[in-house]
Amino acid sequence: MNDPVYNQYSMDSVCAALALALGAEPPGEAAPANPLLLDLVKREPVDRVVMYNPDAVALWLYQKYTPYYRGVVRHTCLTLPLAAVMPSVTPVCFGTMYTGAQPEVHGIRRYEKPVIRIDTLFDALLRAGKKPAIVAEKDCSLSMIFKERDMDYFILPTVEECNEKTLELIERDEYDFILDYNGNYDAAMHRHAPEGKEALAALAANVAAFDALADKIGACWRGKHRTLLGFAPDHGCHEIDGGLGSHGIDMPEDLNVLHFYGVV
Ligand SMILES: [Zn+2]
Repeated sequence: MNDPVYNQYSMDSVCAALALALGAEPPGEAAPANPLLLDLVKREPVDRVVMYNPDAVALWLYQKYTPYYRGVVRHTCLTLPLAAVMPSVTPVCFGTMYTGAQPEVHGIRRYEKPVIRIDTLFDALLRAGKKPAIVAEKDCSLSMIFKERDMDYFILPTVEECNEKTLELIERDEYDFILDYNGNYDAAMHRHAPEGKEALAALAANVAAFDALADKIGACWRGKHRTLLGFAPDHGCHEIDGGLGSHGIDMPEDLNVLHFYGVV
């Protein structure tokens, strides 16, 4: 059997680079900034960041369904292979993505959604005088684990409403950092299968949502702002008995993800 291959950079390297992109000191517990992402924002300085977070979109989906990603690659120039953290479940991985800290440091070590008490990207941005906003579905991890900061949260019933709200926020141009979370691929792959038609339709919808955000940024902010745009899943997934999908364990299918970044 082949040895499993894990991506070199940890997901904990994203946070400091995002803080530095907006001129903020990274959060206190953040790992050093990812050198490739940092290099991009040094070459192409930005004053806005929009992070699109689709849940459970594995690296192997890109390898197998590359044509689906047309609406992502046309807006991005950096493809960044990352290793998620263990256990590879949503609150643990997003906890690491936005604190830059490993799970034993940020405190979420299983599937639970407490408010994270250590320093986060959102705290770092607020200290630097930036305005962040989170747009996420009701009851999802991202609607809960970064609460209780002096910032705006738009918690809405559906993915479609989250994406509409994000487009509206881009048009209003009041936030320096916008996070938009979509959990539809994750829901579809658990209920059906990672490569079932429902899941692939959700993957296509995730790409279409990102494509629409990028187009909106181009239309509203060109000449006004330079925006770092990220397509950034939290962890991957794999097929289990009966064809259903799962994630959470220490295997390349669950841990390897691909982030895409571009400057619009
Ligand atoms: Zn997830």
